Amino acid sequence: MEVQTSSAVGVKTNQQVVGPIVLLGPPGAGKGTQAKLIAETYGIPQISTGDILRDNVARKTELGVKAKEIMARGDLVPDELVCGMVADRLMQADCVRGFILDGFPRTVRQAEWLDTQLEKMRAGKDGKGQQACAPPVVIRLVVEYNQLLQRLTGRRSCPTCGLIYNVYYQPPKIQGICDVDGTPLVTRRDDTEEVITERLKAYEQLTLPLVEYYGARGRLIEVNGDQPVEAVMAQTFKAIENVNRL
Ligand code: ADP
Ligand code: AMP
Repeated sequence: MEVQTSSAVGVKTNQQVVGPIVLLGPPGAGKGTQAKLIAETYGIPQISTGDILRDNVARKTELGVKAKEIMARGDLVPDELVCGMVADRLMQADCVRGFILDGFPRTVRQAEWLDTQLEKMRAGKDGKGQQACAPPVVIRLVVEYNQLLQRLTGRRSCPTCGLIYNVYYQPPKIQGICDVDGTPLVTRRDDTEEVITERLKAYEQLTLPLVEYYGARGRLIEVNGDQPVEAVMAQTFKAIENVNRL
């Protein structure tokens, strides 16, 4: 995928405080794809709870052992495990100007936890530092159901650099091989039709209520995710910049 971020939105300095950004949307909406573009352009880290959990599963950590079967079924990992994991990640130095949460929060309890956690972090800082843990800007990527199915069944990713491809929409130059480092691409184990159905159900039941949660707090910005990556990116960047924290 070639995306000219600088010509589309202007070159960003790496000194700006961006603050917390939450990408909300069903599996396959393009959260990971957009998170990587935001991270690259604004110089803040992508925090993907799915990626952190998969890494724990691969390394067979205590958390990974607990999460493995739950993820394989397409259910959500318990809130306390995921919140603990995010708390550790937010302590790291690279979150000092802001961060992108991709796949978190996914339940109202997680969203409440995040608000409390950010409040605690703000209380421990003064002046400009507080902006980095301001209440989050929440960008909801809205994508039609059938499009989600096709995106998920066509998804491939590079186990080395994490770049995301799609056999229908964003194929690599050489079939099955990462353009960047030549690694054979892999299909996620939960991107099978059966598990996708369960994941989409979990989204409808447990995550969709967050639209109301953040909407009621005036933090929700909706972006039409049913467009080519570059168009979604342009709208997403506009939303981030209009919030006026930059
Ligand atoms: P999520 O993180 O929300 O599950 P991904 O970013 O992994 O979603 O995207 C899911 C699949 O859809 C990937 O194969 C990706 O290449 C593809 N994709 C992402 N955004 C778009 C888009 N705007 N148009 C078409 N395909 C897309
Ligand atoms: P994702 O990579 O975001 O599609 O997430 C893959 C899987 O990881 C999900 O189907 C869940 O089982 C688990 N997971 C990721 N993020 C969370 C979260 N915030 N809360 C609970 N489970 C999560």
